[in-house]
Amino acid sequence: AKDKGRNIWHVYSQELHDELSERLDLSKKLRYAIEQNKLTVFYQPQVDMTTRKIIGVEALVRWIEDDGSMIGPDRFIPIAEDSGLIIPISEFVLQTACRQLARWRDLGFTDLRMSVNISGRLFQLPDLTEQILYAIRSAGIPTAFLELELTEQVLIENSSSHTQFMHDMRDNGITLAIDDFGVGYSSLSYLKHFPINALKIDRSFVKDLPDDKDDATITQTIVSLARNLDIGIVAEGVETEEQAEFLIERGCTIGQGFYYSRPLPADEITQLLTQPDGL
Ligand code: C2E
Ligand code: CA
Ligand code: CA
Ligand code: CA
Repeated sequence: AKDKGRNIWHVYSQELHDELSERLDLSKKLRYAIEQNKLTVFYQPQVDMTTRKIIGVEALVRWIEDDGSMIGPDRFIPIAEDSGLIIPISEFVLQTACRQLARWRDLGFTDLRMSVNISGRLFQLPDLTEQILYAIRSAGIPTAFLELELTEQVLIENSSSHTQFMHDMRDNGITLAIDDFGVGYSSLSYLKHFPINALKIDRSFVKDLPDDKDDATITQTIVSLARNLDIGIVAEGVETEEQAEFLIERGCTIGQGFYYSRPLPADEITQLLTQPDGL
């Protein structure tokens, strides 16, 4: 039995070792990829589901390897957050997204809104507000067209610097959305205390609509909550016409998902924006 126990320990420590060295490997590769400009930004349309017009886009980072293959953010964002690389990555995404919005505005798409994800890790930056304002100013776009997506995690912390940040954003006309709404275990009272403009219903609640009764109830409840608080609402992960119809009937008219478009490079979004009848 003793031998067996030792073996199990050995297996565990080997696995742990493998995982640690893989993460270390990936963070080294990631650092190099950032220096070599191997990161790029894709954009996914947010659509008015009643008119099928694109009202905004969400900036989503991509890592292109030398052979052209892509490493998704779900694999490298957690590592970037642990290693601090999320800071240069976010700076890159924010600047790229603001400049791209300026280009689309030059082409005449002046109603388009840009959403950018803000990792909780960035709240450790003392000059986060200045960095955001700097990116907006150097791109020459109006603040009102930038929306920041924050996760509930950020709100749970409820520290004075977080509160200050959110009020700074509001005072500057930048809007805030809560990402992945419903999956965090936070209290709803923050919706009252913080200047939140929109909730994004997490994809996990949309996935099995309209058949799953529980998900239908949850979605309906989130929509009513948002409407009663006069907060905007966006459904994530809309993949089917049935889901879109269900959401529209319940009062959620803005959707984002593969049914409308996958995240795409900027020039392909320009093509979509140019289509007269929307998506
Ligand atoms: P997220 O913010 O919830 O972004 C939406 C994710 O859902 C994107 O995955 C998008 O491709 C995917 N998605 C959109 N529509 C559908 C759909 O209809 N079906 C399915 N199955 N998936 C859909 P992506 O691009 O792989 O990003 C994953 C996560 O990585 C993001 O989740 C976000 O948390 C993070 N992320 C991406 N870019 C950035 C960034 O620039 N900064 C930070 N801090 N995080 C980022
Ligand atoms: Ca997001
Ligand atoms: Ca989300
Ligand atoms: Ca998510």
